[in-house]
Amino acid sequence: MAKELDKQKDCPICNRNNSCNKNGDCWCGNEFFPREIFDLVTGDQLGKSCICKDCLNQFKGKN
Ligand SMILES: [Zn+2]
Repeated sequence: MAKELDKQKDCPICNRNNSCNKNGDCWCGNEFFPREIFDLVTGDQLGKSCICKDCLNQFKGKN
């Protein structure tokens, strides 16, 4: 169980800490995530783990 919770703190793209705070205000709540970025996330992690800011910025920079 604890392992599952830990997993949600990891970015599904780079596996680093996504700095998401599920219990309060999270930076990702104020960010726009392009639909296409979720194509990079595998099915079982979709909707569970947040994408980190680094990956979001990198994705936006490329497109
Ligand atoms: Zn990431």
